[in-house]
Amino acid sequence: MINGSRIFWDLDGVLRRLSFPNYPNWPDSWTQRDGSGNDICEVIDKNLEILLESPETEYIELARECVPLHIVSSQPDNWRKHTSKWLDVHLPEAKVKYVSNAFQKLVYLEAKTRVLIEDYPLYPSYENIILISRPYNRNTKAEHRVTYPDELRDKISQYIKGDLVWNQ
Ligand SMILES: [Mg+2]
Repeated sequence: MINGSRIFWDLDGVLRRLSFPNYPNWPDSWTQRDGSGNDICEVIDKNLEILLESPETEYIELARECVPLHIVSSQPDNWRKHTSKWLDVHLPEAKVKYVSNAFQKLVYLEAKTRVLIEDYPLYPSYENIILISRPYNRNTKAEHRVTYPDELRDKISQYIKGDLVWNQ
């Protein structure tokens, strides 16, 4: 068990793998579009079932060790019902907060007493954020970037011990 009280997890790209139907790989860029010119949000808006059917990522087992498990996720209003159903199936113990855009999550970091585990590529600063490495954030400058669950496990234990620092 990991003390999760100061650890906030993003959902999409970190614990749930949202992807274009028929596209096996992670998108190469944050603004990737499908063959019809739709970005991922537009594709999902037209087929909300994708939210229910999306698979877990390689990090979810580590998240399941966190008690409590805090998730903070940016979800449009029309996605939330389906996303809550996904969470009921995959992470029923999670304490979930929905926000409307990625920047609203930063409120939870203001006191500098929490860490956010996130894949979003466009924050101006990654202080108090551990970045999950994905192709679409490869150019993002983050002091603590992880590529594998075991690396994240190490970062989390350092953080809990007070040994993870941000010098940016
Ligand atoms: Mg995300």
